[in-house]
Amino acid sequence: MKKFELMALPYQAEALEPVISARTLQFHHGKHLQAYVNNLNNLLPGTPWEGLSLEDIVCQAQGGILNNAGQVLNHNLYFGQFTSPKKDNFPSGKLAAAINAQFGSFNNFCQEFVKAGTTLFGSGWVWLSADADGRLVITQEPNAANPIQKGLCPLLTFDVWEHAYYLDYQNRRPDHLDALWQIIDWTVVEARYVHD
Ligand code: MN
Repeated sequence: MKKFELMALPYQAEALEPVISARTLQFHHGKHLQAYVNNLNNLLPGTPWEGLSLEDIVCQAQGGILNNAGQVLNHNLYFGQFTSPKKDNFPSGKLAAAINAQFGSFNNFCQEFVKAGTTLFGSGWVWLSADADGRLVITQEPNAANPIQKGLCPLLTFDVWEHAYYLDYQNRRPDHLDALWQIIDWTVVEARYVHD
């Protein structure tokens, strides 16, 4: 059976500094995500979910397989959405229009998103997703959950597990989340927003 593989990062480990250090990236991608990939590959053989796509496993499986598949899918979306720090880093096009229409302004959206990430108790992920009508929604998902389990299309995510920021920011989760706006690759996020 084909095994799931560790995604290749689309940038160098130093590329996101100082927002995310190379050291954090090397542990987060090379150790944490690699462990989720390995666990998933070890757990799948002989189960009903062997051979399914990552998305189908996340929507159908349970227990350790669900948790590890969820973390692989979540991290693939997370690491895939970054680029080197930029000033005046904003979305454009249809996604920008939808953000402005629903949240009033990009700044207000950022504040609501960071608030959702800051108030998520324990480990988990904050998400911007689109529903079937293209309407945007911010959700807090605990542990390894993903909005596709609710029928939503995930667009953007911040990882609020402590392993995502503790080496660089210690307990200052809000500071970490505020800094992430500098490194969002909006062309990637906009491409995930396929609604017409
Ligand atoms: Mn993580």
